[in-house]
Amino acid sequence: MQMFNPLEKFGINLAVASFSRRQDGNMSLSFGDTRDSLENRKKFLGGLSIDYRDLITAKQVHGKNVEYMAQENKGSGALDYDSSVPDTDGFITDQPGVPIAILTADCLSIFIYDPKRPAVAVLHAGWRSTEQNIAQEGVSAMQNKFGSQPQDLLVGFGPSIRSCCFEVEKDFKSNFAFGLLKREGRVFMDIALINQRQLLACKVKEQNIFDPGLCTFSDNGFFSFRKEAQNAGRMISVIMLRK
Ligand SMILES: [Zn+2]
Repeated sequence: MQMFNPLEKFGINLAVASFSRRQDGNMSLSFGDTRDSLENRKKFLGGLSIDYRDLITAKQVHGKNVEYMAQENKGSGALDYDSSVPDTDGFITDQPGVPIAILTADCLSIFIYDPKRPAVAVLHAGWRSTEQNIAQEGVSAMQNKFGSQPQDLLVGFGPSIRSCCFEVEKDFKSNFAFGLLKREGRVFMDIALINQRQLLACKVKEQNIFDPGLCTFSDNGFFSFRKEAQNAGRMISVIMLRK
């Protein structure tokens, strides 16, 4: 199976990072058709040499809370949704063999890797979390907890609904100074661009941010909440420091 590593262009070797696609099946234990979710996780994560029983997931709330995870947190949300880490949209860890993950269907996932520390993070950046600058929360958490230097951080974006398709109300009010694009009297949001700018404002280097530009709405190879509503499954974005 070909696994896409959003950090691959940086030649990382201390961490494994990947996101799933529609063909990998629903990875959520709470949204969409969950009957095969555990089996899907086992297969997809197994391909990355991650034990699905170790997986850490969150009860995501479109906030900006980023939590530190260690060995004792392994398995939170791995086998049932109730054991997921509550009120959280991002994780950081410097512990080898601790797979941290978020689930998406249109929201942007952000992978962060500090090869010096080493340490990793994964963030769930929908527009609400983006408005609350979860990118900055993630970088700050790595600075505070690990002493990471922003200029060392390598960042990869997962698939998300892009500005080609993410139309918002004409009177959409937000705190974004940029990222709202007008086309033919309609308004579209560029979440990836906003997060990129927020990361640059944290002193992450532009050449250290890789955006593959994958749109979940126009590319049927991904789940899309906007397109499929309640039936939408979820993709997983997972990162782990190798043991
Ligand atoms: Zn699109």
